[in-house]
Amino acid sequence: MTSRRGFLKIAAAASMAVPAIARAQGAGRVVVVGGGFAGATAARTLKKLEPGLVVTLVEPDATFIACPFSNDVIVGLRDLKQQEFGYDKVAAAGVTLARTTASAVDPAAKTVALQDGTKLAYDRLVLAPGVDLNWSGLPGYTEAAAEKMPHAWKAGPQTTLLRRQLEAMDDGGLVVISAPANPYRCPPGPYERASLIAWYLKTKKPKSKLLLLDAKDVFSKQRLFQNAWAALYPDIVEWVSLSSGGKVTSIDPATLTFVTDFASHKAAVANVIPPQKAGAIAQQAGVADRTGWCPVEPFSFESTLQPGIHVIGDAAIMGGMPKSAFAANAQAKVCAAAIVARLAGRTAPEPRLINTCYSLVAPDYGISVAGVYKPDKGQLIDIPGAGGTSPLDADAAFRSDEARYAESWFRTITAETFG
Ligand SMILES: Cc1cc2nc3c(=O)[nH]c(=O)nc-3n(C[C@H](O)[C@H](O)[C@H](O)COP(=O)(O)OP(=O)(O)OC[C@H]3O[C@@H](n4cnc5c(N)ncnc54)[C@H](O)[C@@H]3O)c2cc1C
Repeated sequence: MTSRRGFLKIAAAASMAVPAIARAQGAGRVVVVGGGFAGATAARTLKKLEPGLVVTLVEPDATFIACPFSNDVIVGLRDLKQQEFGYDKVAAAGVTLARTTASAVDPAAKTVALQDGTKLAYDRLVLAPGVDLNWSGLPGYTEAAAEKMPHAWKAGPQTTLLRRQLEAMDDGGLVVISAPANPYRCPPGPYERASLIAWYLKTKKPKSKLLLLDAKDVFSKQRLFQNAWAALYPDIVEWVSLSSGGKVTSIDPATLTFVTDFASHKAAVANVIPPQKAGAIAQQAGVADRTGWCPVEPFSFESTLQPGIHVIGDAAIMGGMPKSAFAANAQAKVCAAAIVARLAGRTAPEPRLINTCYSLVAPDYGISVAGVYKPDKGQLIDIPGAGGTSPLDADAAFRSDEARYAESWFRTITAETFG
């Protein structure tokens, strides 16, 4: 991480150099790579704050498929179509869409090469490629294995595959989920998935069981989840922590088997949530470090490894801030405001960022965690006492309200991101 002094040096150099470029080019050129929660928000916010900017969003897919609420799709509570969002309103906001993949960044020349053969020059580059699954992180788990043991950690065909497998499973089958060590996309996601699959089993295939093998001893909203499992699914869910031997060391796709240091578990339906890393373009651009993630400073999310390149969303290491759609959207707004300020020769104000993550443990039973974050010593830290989780002793009406708030949150965040 850049020290505060190092950051000020970079910021000062940038604020001296950039206005000259901005004057020569008009308001400036910003290229955003990745049209997910982080990238689409950043592109729209940049145009909103400074209509004179030339903003190009590079994204190969015509339709974005959102992960939040995809666990509902897996258990038949929702249709995958409800997860789909287009880019018409992003284009209507004045953002130029490049419907292709960014294949290489040249930080010295300040250009991005696209798969369609064109090259885009930028004054500032925002990388928001999300995560790649780390195919070398779990022996036996390959792209081919994922067709038998889906991850469903990128919404789309994988989500549908896991749903079909659950539907086809006989009553009495064993569903096994493996959760990775931190950091990874959506810390409460595996536990929400386990809860909703347990609800599906309880209501549709009551003789079945769910085993959750974990590479951690502690996880997000843990007491809330565990209390709910004890109350709602006592004979269905079994969670095996790291210290109880839950870490999966290899996978055998031929037999749908998870291997740990102590045992082998053969599944009827196997969901492997593998280790992850920042999207490939971040590795290529030299903004990812040896952890596979991208260190950034917390005022504008500029890379500490490559000046002029900002990294937002899941790809970035964000101190205490989790990898969530809410966080990606919040970081994108702060990043866009900081870029506009710098291109105009101003200093961006110190930001405060919020994250809230809702999880469903049953269709009418929601729980949440919220945090507020501020820069401190080159990181974003959680402001003590500013956030919290749902109460442990809430009644059914409170849980039901939280389930409804979760749905309104999804409508709001997707409208804020895609228009
Ligand atoms: C099961 C599940 C449930 C979740 N539930 C929640 C929830 O309830 N609340 C919440 O806040 N978060 C939730 N999340 C997390 C959330 O989905 C992610 O944190 C969020 O999508 C991160 O946004 P992003 O923009 O960084 O990445 P993404 O949304 O993944 O977007 C990345 C985009 O970049 C594009 N891209 C990648 N590489 C390139 C390239 N080289 N060139 C051009 N484009 C490229 C991709 O096509 C993609 O469109 C959940 C995740 C999962 C898996």
